[in-house]
Amino acid sequence: MLLFTPGPTPVPQNVRNAMSDETMHHRTPEFEKIFEKTRKHLFNLFNTDEVIMLASSGTGAMEAAVINLCKNTLLSVNSGKFGERFGKIAIAHKLKNVEIKNEWDTPVSIEAIVEAVKADSSIDAIAVQISESAGGLRHPVEELAEVIKEINPNIMIIADGITAVGVEKIDVTNIDCLIAGSQKALMLPPGLSLLGLSNEAIAKIGAGKGYYLNLATEIKKQRQNTTAYTAATTLIIGLLEVLESIEENGGLDKLYEQTASRSKAVRTALEAIGLHSYPSTPAASMTTIDDENASEIRTLLKEEFEVNVAGGQDHLKGKIFRINQMGLIPVYEIIWVVNAVELCLAKLGRRTYDGTASKVFNEVFFRLDV
Ligand SMILES: *Cc1c(COP(=O)(O)O)cnc(C)c1O
Repeated sequence: MLLFTPGPTPVPQNVRNAMSDETMHHRTPEFEKIFEKTRKHLFNLFNTDEVIMLASSGTGAMEAAVINLCKNTLLSVNSGKFGERFGKIAIAHKLKNVEIKNEWDTPVSIEAIVEAVKADSSIDAIAVQISESAGGLRHPVEELAEVIKEINPNIMIIADGITAVGVEKIDVTNIDCLIAGSQKALMLPPGLSLLGLSNEAIAKIGAGKGYYLNLATEIKKQRQNTTAYTAATTLIIGLLEVLESIEENGGLDKLYEQTASRSKAVRTALEAIGLHSYPSTPAASMTTIDDENASEIRTLLKEEFEVNVAGGQDHLKGKIFRINQMGLIPVYEIIWVVNAVELCLAKLGRRTYDGTASKVFNEVFFRLDV
């Protein structure tokens, strides 16, 4: 079965092998060496002033960011399940929350953000997804961050990059906190989250907030290549292998370029067989199709063609399907996926099969059309 859900994503064989050794003790020079090497690679991936690893799923890093970087009011962007989560975290910690809510295919407008910030001077942090995985949407985070910093540089910009870090190059100039998670673009099992921090964010964190999620404690320890509590040793060993594999496969720029071309080729191929891309600004991390037969297509893909794609949640349940584009994806796998989708449409009697999807994919991906 091909796993093509936008998280979890498949773990490459060499990474599984790297993680199959005996458990290493985390307070040893051997592990500290691995930690140090991993940190070095992470600075290259994040381009931020500091990088922290936490033993938690992605939501743990979201919570750590909110409690450590927001003291008064969190402005959160809700164009889907994950944006909604930021607001819930703020409320759970008795912070004030102002939310800008849109349909899941619609990115936040910069005007709306500016208006909200101007209307409420207690807003001291903004939380937004770079890629909102609920509908496969790309928010204009870098532009938004630039505009906000011009208005008030003290407002912290928290960018959830769980389906963006490792997918595309992110301009972190005006971002204070960039979040990633292991089981999406980083091709690892779940359980590790990461935060890139600006120096301004570190200053605001000060003595930190919370206990396990106190970022001040972690910053201090991780600068010494250790962690405050037991590190997720196996996952960090896997992460180092992933980051080295990316280097061996041509580096981050090549990965970003391949991901962008593959995303574009899949979207073009599926549109060529009459399907519709759901988000008005698609993220490179996944291809989201809204379709009246979304459920049937998902079932057929799984049962007849051995392809596992994700569906939708809440009001989009049964209305969309999402195909992963994150990670080092072999091109022969994704060609099978678009071909299988075309076969599904034939099975549903919607279209006579003629190989258009894989043909268009190849033309766009390998640039045979120019
Ligand atoms: C998956 C995901 C999360 C949540 O991460 P968990 O690891 O499930 O806690 C948050 N934000 C985005 C954009 C995601 O895709």
